[in-house]
Amino acid sequence: MRNSDNRSFVCYDCKHTFDVPFGTGRPGKCPNCGSNNIHRSGSDKGARRRRQGSNPNCVNNIQARV
Ligand SMILES: [Zn+2]
Repeated sequence: MRNSDNRSFVCYDCKHTFDVPFGTGRPGKCPNCGSNNIHRSGSDKGARRRRQGSNPNCVNNIQARV
């Protein structure tokens, strides 16, 4: 189960990604390098889509047919 109360941010300077619990406010700087060039890394924005579900090339499916 995933806790959606966490917001993930990414630092554009060092590419460091980190989670911030909802309610603590927006982080002012990157905990890794201290830069304030951070942005939300929203997986809910559809920036990176991952396909899930039926895979016809799945090894398990091939073995099941034999
Ligand atoms: Zn950083």
